[in-house]
Amino acid sequence: MRKLIIAIDGPAASGKSTTAKLVAQRLGYLHIDTGAMYRAVTLRVLEEKIPLDDVQKIGELAEGTQIRLERSGSGSRIYVDGRDVTTDIRSPSVTNCVSLVSSYRLVRDVLVREQRRMAERRGVVLEGRDIGTVVLPNADLKIYMVAHVTERVKRRKRDLELAGSVVDSEALEQQILERDRFDSTRDASPLRKAPDAIELDTTDLTIEQQVQFVVSRAQKILKRLS
Ligand code: C5P
Repeated sequence: MRKLIIAIDGPAASGKSTTAKLVAQRLGYLHIDTGAMYRAVTLRVLEEKIPLDDVQKIGELAEGTQIRLERSGSGSRIYVDGRDVTTDIRSPSVTNCVSLVSSYRLVRDVLVREQRRMAERRGVVLEGRDIGTVVLPNADLKIYMVAHVTERVKRRKRDLELAGSVVDSEALEQQILERDRFDSTRDASPLRKAPDAIELDTTDLTIEQQVQFVVSRAQKILKRLS
């Protein structure tokens, strides 16, 4: 049976990761969290203490870094040069610097090339900011997820608290809005809805409703193709 390429884009904390993971599980596809890949490069930049404005060095580091995503139980793990960095890439310092590092063309060129290679075998759900516009403009199904910022803050706060962090809602809202502003105004592959993407507002939806929406769209396409 033909397998699809599904692209899920949208701003921070709009529900992409949870949805992409569950959609991939239901369809038996591979889930590729491209944000985790940008976070992994950012972690290495910080570990190597490379100045954040040294674009050349950061580009070389991205080129020389091996990133691997692996399915594990109900989630996935990310390895950098063989080291498990699944937890480390979610640290506040990485979150604060990831948008800047991601805005460098040299970094994007390396990671986009890798993402396209991963999608070659099809049967994939990629989530990010530029999947439907730049990475895979020919994806079979493109979803652009949005949610009201108050709801996004609530969800991110809950996730962080579950991971043991204490967070201030106002500071979190500022951080989310600032990251969205930076991601959508950069020159290289800004966050944008592809003209042929379906917009899904998840503000008032349950996770099950979000997942069902995407899965039913995918099934419709599969039926048409069979
Ligand atoms: O999805 P997540 O919030 O983990 O992404 C972290 C950051 O990585 C985003 O704020 C954005 O700067 C960058 N990113 C990107 N392009 C992607 C995925 C993520 O620039 N495809």
